[in-house]
Amino acid sequence: MQLHNTLSGRKEEFVPLDPSRITMYVCGPTVYSYAHIGNARPVVVFDVLARVLRRRYPKVVYVRNITDIDDKINAAAKKEGVDIRVITDRYAAIYHDDMAALGALPPDFTPRVTEHLPQIIDMISRLIASGHAYVADGHVLFHTLSFPAYGALSKRDEQSLMAGARIEVAPYKKHAGDFVLWKPSAADQPGWDSPWGRGRPGWHIECSAMAEALLGETIDIHGGGHDLIFPHHENEIAQSTCAHGGKTFARYWLHNGFLNIDSQKMSKSVGNVLLVHELLKSMPGEVIRLVLLTAHYRQPLDWNDEVVAEARKKLDRLYGALRELEDVEAAPGVTAPEAFVAALEDDINTPMALAELFELARAANKAVDPAEKARIKAQMLDAGLLLGLLQQAPSAWFAQAPAAAGAPSADEIEALLAQRTAARQNKQWAESDRIRDELKARGVLVEDSKDGQRWRYA
Ligand code: AMP
Ligand code: ZN
Repeated sequence: MQLHNTLSGRKEEFVPLDPSRITMYVCGPTVYSYAHIGNARPVVVFDVLARVLRRRYPKVVYVRNITDIDDKINAAAKKEGVDIRVITDRYAAIYHDDMAALGALPPDFTPRVTEHLPQIIDMISRLIASGHAYVADGHVLFHTLSFPAYGALSKRDEQSLMAGARIEVAPYKKHAGDFVLWKPSAADQPGWDSPWGRGRPGWHIECSAMAEALLGETIDIHGGGHDLIFPHHENEIAQSTCAHGGKTFARYWLHNGFLNIDSQKMSKSVGNVLLVHELLKSMPGEVIRLVLLTAHYRQPLDWNDEVVAEARKKLDRLYGALRELEDVEAAPGVTAPEAFVAALEDDINTPMALAELFELARAANKAVDPAEKARIKAQMLDAGLLLGLLQQAPSAWFAQAPAAAGAPSADEIEALLAQRTAARQNKQWAESDRIRDELKARGVLVEDSKDGQRWRYA
């Protein structure tokens, strides 16, 4: 299996540290609001990776944290006049439901920062004891100059690190690039007792501490969106490596590209932020998932009405092929074709894997031999399972997925087809054709087969 490693800047053969236990950590959401469609991209991409790894290895431990301590959370709680727990519980629950609606399986662990304060404090104490962190003005800071490899992931040298920091340098910092591990909380802010007074952890240290607590000192795969490379992941590397006496923290760093809306960066100021929660009201989660998988994960992905309509049509095609095989049992023991798995094992090449899946759908439409049909059905279902697609009955898909605005619902179609059957029984051929043409004009194709009328969205 090949994975592109941001650290080396190239695709590498994936060789796990311990093939009997693969470890993967992906940075999760800060739960103060709804997740947008960009936030869903890493969730779906790393869900596919977890599925592919699980196929190959006996045990995969996948951790995706919940950041439930953050100043944006504090602000949201203050605004509503509630405890931060009210905010974080609410949005964590919505996040899990929304991501489940996209077919993402729950990770093995979804640790919360508020449940790992002792581990965080312990790690900070070790960093201070080993001279990699210092206490200044109620804060604890990581001393970046103490870690010569700082900048290796983001390929930044000292100068560009400084230029990239673009922040007012706090007077208590020994060096402008030093970052906060612990900061003091005012009386009206959420805080936890620590050797450095009542305060709260910085963002970066939480991932280092939770990865250590749940996965150990060295992990196989660490993932997230490419915006996290600097400073978040650079800082995670610095903290973990120094806390572990120089041991490698994560062996393969994977980063997904960004999702744009109509070729524009998604932003509050442009007003084009699409929330998964809202999108799910107007389209099936499977359509969203397929859109997210149409581009290679490292490439930018453009979200627009056209790609959404395309994804619907593609799912119609796939489920249409499966519907033709409805009376065939999937052949037992037959799994996804080798070329399909090879595409996914080549740095999660989902566009290539999807092309293989459509190849199967074409073969299914042509197949006449029952044994061949049974084999193709099994291959399609298993390939779908690896992508997290095609797991519902074709009838359920067609009942929920009008192809275009104005297309009639499944119930309406069935009612019109019943009228058409009656017309045909009375030899009213013109009426029968009229109904068929009306459906066609509204985006529904009717075929007359020996088993009666069949329909599908065009
Ligand atoms: P955040 O809650 O902002 O830390 O983001 C959660 C995850 O979503 C991180 O892995 C980000 O890198 C990722 N992410 C945020 N915005 C986008 C976007 N527009 N496209 C793809 N990934 C994104
Ligand atoms: Zn993280």
